Amino acid sequence: MKLVLKFGGTSVSSPQNIQNVSTLIKKLTKEHKIIPVFSAISGVTDDLIRITHLIQNRNKEAASSLAKKIIKMHTDIAEQCVKNAKIKKDLISKMKADLDEFEDLLHGMLLLGEVTPRSSDYMISFGERLSINLVAFTLNEMGVKAVPLTGKDVGIVTDSNFGGAKPLMDTTRLHVSHTVEDLLQKKAMPIIGGFAGADQHGNITTFGRGGSDYTATIIASSIKADEVWLMSDVDGLMTTDPKIVKDAKLIKEVSYIEAMEMALFGAKYIHPRALEPLVAKKIPLRIRNTFNIGNLGTLVTATPQADTQKTVKCVSTIRHTGLIDVRGGSMVGAPGTAATIFSILAKEGINIMMISQSPSESSISIIVKKNDLDKAVNALEMNLLGKVIKKVDVTVDVSILALIGSGMRGITGVASKVFTAVAKKGVNVIMIAQGSSELNLAFVVKDSDCNAAVQALHDEFNLGK
Ligand code: ASP
Ligand code: MG
Repeated sequence: MKLVLKFGGTSVSSPQNIQNVSTLIKKLTKEHKIIPVFSAISGVTDDLIRITHLIQNRNKEAASSLAKKIIKMHTDIAEQCVKNAKIKKDLISKMKADLDEFEDLLHGMLLLGEVTPRSSDYMISFGERLSINLVAFTLNEMGVKAVPLTGKDVGIVTDSNFGGAKPLMDTTRLHVSHTVEDLLQKKAMPIIGGFAGADQHGNITTFGRGGSDYTATIIASSIKADEVWLMSDVDGLMTTDPKIVKDAKLIKEVSYIEAMEMALFGAKYIHPRALEPLVAKKIPLRIRNTFNIGNLGTLVTATPQADTQKTVKCVSTIRHTGLIDVRGGSMVGAPGTAATIFSILAKEGINIMMISQSPSESSISIIVKKNDLDKAVNALEMNLLGKVIKKVDVTVDVSILALIGSGMRGITGVASKVFTAVAKKGVNVIMIAQGSSELNLAFVVKDSDCNAAVQALHDEFNLGK
């Protein structure tokens, strides 16, 4: 099979891990054509983002010392992951060329004391640009001809929406298939850096956090791969958090839409757009564990097998969120109230996780991350209290529970089963939301009730069986 394998940051975070992942890739090449995509070393993208903030705050010393840390870390690993003198020399000189450019960029940005979306993307793309060198040269030492390529090198062309770019798929397909096929014909393996591409003017762009997943699926769609494997340190998607419920099980198969819903909650975060490139070509995706390769993981396909089509497939949780309840008589029948409330929160950069409004229109409940709670309440009170709204009530420490499964669609009695099971445990339900897709039924409980509710639902729908 032609396989695109995406590896996360832990697989490149030490010389030993780089050895291991290279050994695994080499082993897989005996049976398959492998096109690997790599993330940056764990924590490096965070550090690069921090550097851009430090530059913005004109904190030159701190920015330079964080950059030094990144440079040292990569040079140290480069020194250790390859033994052969000639290959080591080549690796060090490739690293040096990339790190020199990184330092030039840093100096330029420090001089200007300015970070634009464009320079920020250029800066934060370096994590992947560096990590692929380590793997490619390690593979070379193992006798696998491997070539490091950034997203730009391989031909991913995007719009100019820095920080959240989208690929221009027709152009990308043309370029990527050409580059990759050319290398494969020469019996060489491209080692592709995730997370970034370049716009039509050649400026480097990034896809947003977790974007290496997206790179992998863009590549897969471009070269008509048979499958994509997202390799990480979990076995796959689970029926619920195994830390809460002991008999939580690995989910064998889900549809693309279910996977999207689950990825937003569960232990395995997937980039929200990563499945898009696969849908049209029906390319299956597997979520697999690098450290437990015997396990087949979770298969994401267009058409999951019938015996895996349970009504409810998993119970997911988002812990430690906050609830804001906004009330006021003058909200009733006043068009634009919701828009006003949400745009105030948007201006503060607050992400809304869940909303519900009573049909009387006199109250709107909003769930946000606990860290955003103070800022959100402040903004609403400053701008709206006494005008549009009369009262803002806050409940700290609530949890969202979500049941996910496309089998819920059109089935009567799911909600009744859910709320009866929860009520039996004496758990109070604070807020409910169900999208009309019926793919996801979500409700909110006090955080201290969360575990009991999850266990009750996991039992009720026999997910441990
Ligand atoms: N390195 C990027 C990030 O940490 C992309 C990725 O890991 O997928 O967000
Ligand atoms: Mg990452």
